Amino acid sequence: MSTMYLSVISKHSLGYLEVGMFLVCGPINTVDGITGRYITFGQFRDQIRRFGSYLMQNGFRKGDCLAIYSTNVLEYAAVYIGTLYAGGVVTTSNPLYTVRELKHQFDITEAKYVVTNPEFVDNVEEICKLVPIKERFIIGELDGFTSIRNILEDDRLTIRLPARTMAEDVAAVPFSSGTTGLAKGVCLTHRNIVTACQAAVSPEQFLLKDPEIFLCVLPLYHIFGMIVCMLAPIYFGVTVIMLPRFDPQVFLKCVEKYKVTYAPLVPPLVAFFAKHPMVDKYDISSMWRSSCGAAPLSKELQQAAEKRLKIKILQGYGMTETTGSGHLNPYNSIRHGSVGHLIPFMKCKVIDVLTGETLGPYKEGEILLKGAMIMKGYLKNEKATQNTIDKDGWLHTGDIGYYDSDEFFYVVDRVKELIKYKAFQVAPAELEALLMTHDNVMDAAVIGVPDEDCGELPKGIVVVKPGASAKDILEFVNKKVSPQKKLRGGIEFVKEIPKSASGKILRRVLKEREAKRIKSK
Ligand code: AMP
Repeated sequence: MSTMYLSVISKHSLGYLEVGMFLVCGPINTVDGITGRYITFGQFRDQIRRFGSYLMQNGFRKGDCLAIYSTNVLEYAAVYIGTLYAGGVVTTSNPLYTVRELKHQFDITEAKYVVTNPEFVDNVEEICKLVPIKERFIIGELDGFTSIRNILEDDRLTIRLPARTMAEDVAAVPFSSGTTGLAKGVCLTHRNIVTACQAAVSPEQFLLKDPEIFLCVLPLYHIFGMIVCMLAPIYFGVTVIMLPRFDPQVFLKCVEKYKVTYAPLVPPLVAFFAKHPMVDKYDISSMWRSSCGAAPLSKELQQAAEKRLKIKILQGYGMTETTGSGHLNPYNSIRHGSVGHLIPFMKCKVIDVLTGETLGPYKEGEILLKGAMIMKGYLKNEKATQNTIDKDGWLHTGDIGYYDSDEFFYVVDRVKELIKYKAFQVAPAELEALLMTHDNVMDAAVIGVPDEDCGELPKGIVVVKPGASAKDILEFVNKKVSPQKKLRGGIEFVKEIPKSASGKILRRVLKEREAKRIKSK
C-alpha cells in the first residue's frame, strides 16, 4: 500500500473547539525551572483573558500580528494565546536573531506589536527604528515598554469576550525556509494547531500516564517546542517545567527535583544523555520515555541513550509546514532508526523524484504529506506556496525516504537546500546572498558538511577576486548572522560554482565533491 489513510483519533480528544479549547481543557500549571515561580491553570486562564482584553482595548484589530522575540518564559503561552483571544496572529522569532534577520521577519509579517525580555531590548530598540511598531511589551519592567506582568496580574482590567475566529483563520506564523530560498512565514491556521494538539495524544503513539510532568527546553519559537512543549500540554492538561536554554546541570536538577516524566529532545540532547558523565550524578528515573525530532537521529545514538537511561526514545519527523510531527514511533513497538508511523489526520505517500510515480514499500523517493496539519501557505508568497503544495493538496517535503512492510518510515536524505545545524534551520540562499555582498566574492554557494556532534556545518564555497582572504570573508558573514548560521564548515575557494543550464547551483555536485574529500582524508 503506498498511500496511507490512518484514522486513529485520540480517546482523549475534546473535539474541535478552535481557540476556545484552550479555555476549557484540564488543569495547567507551568513552572519556571530557574526561579520556581509557577502559575496554576486558573491564573493562566485569567492571564489569557487579560492580555487579550488589553490588546482589544488598545487598538489591536482582528488579524493584527504580534511578534514574540523571547526565550522560553512563564508568560510565553499567555501572550501567545492572549493574542489569539484578541483575534490576532502570533509570529515567533528566534531570540538569537540579529536585527537584520528580525527585520526580514517584521517586513513579511508587518508585525506592529512586539513582546521581548530584557536580554533583547537593544535589538528591539533597533528594529523600532526600521519598521513601524505600535506598542512594545516587556516581560519585566522598562521605560518605554508596556509591562506584560502588570497586564497579566491586573484584576481590574475589563474582560472582553474573545474575538470570533474561524478554523481557517491564521493563528501563528513561525518562519522556515522550506525547500528553497530565504526564510518564509509559514501560515498555520487554528485548525492546523488544534489538529496538531489532538494528534499529539494519539494513544497508539504517545501514551499519557497520570501524572505527567514535561520539561521544556526546546525553544518555543520553533514548531517542535511550540506544539509539544507549550500548546499540546495545555490541551491535555499536564504540568510543564520551563527552561530558557539548555544548561546540563540545571536540566538534570529539574528532572530530579520535579520528577519529570517526559522531555522532548533533539539529536544533540540525545547525544548528551548518551555520553555526558554528569548524567549519572542525578536521579532521573522518573523519565519513562522521550521523543526526538527536528533532525536525523542515528540508530546507534538512539540505542546508546536508551540503554543508559533505561527508557524508550520515540523518534518523530515533521516540519514547520506540517505543524510539527507527521510521523512518530508507537510507544509499544518502536523501531530504531525509523521515524515511525504516520500520525492521525494525515496521509502520506512516497513518490519517484523524476517521474512523480507513487512508490511501494522499500522504494526510496520524496515524502509527500497531506491533511489537516498542512500549512495554509507561505505568507505573501504564492509562488513558493505553489511550489510546495501541489494542486491535489500534497505537500512536497524535500525529504527522501521509504517505508517498510509494516508502514514504518525512514528518512534517508534531503533533496531540498535546507541545512540543519544542531536541529536549527540554516537557509543556504541567505548565506549565499550575504557572501555575494562582500567586495571580493564573485560567486558563492553554501552547503552543509556532515558533522557528528552538530549534524551539519554550513560551509561557504566561493569564487573570489585575487588577493581575497578566507578569514576576512568568514568574519564578514559570521558577525552578521545568528550563531547557528555561522560558517563553521569554513570557506573554500574554487574557480567555478557548478550550475545547471538555467543557472541553478548544483548542490548535489558540491556535496558529492565534499563527501569524496572527507573520504580521502
Ligand atoms: P523544521 O521545519 O525546522 O522542523 O525542519 C524540518 C526538516 O527537518 C524536515 O523537512 C527534515 O529535513 C528535517 N527533519 C526533521 N525531523 C527529522 C528526522 N527525524 N529525521 C530526519 N530529518 C528530520
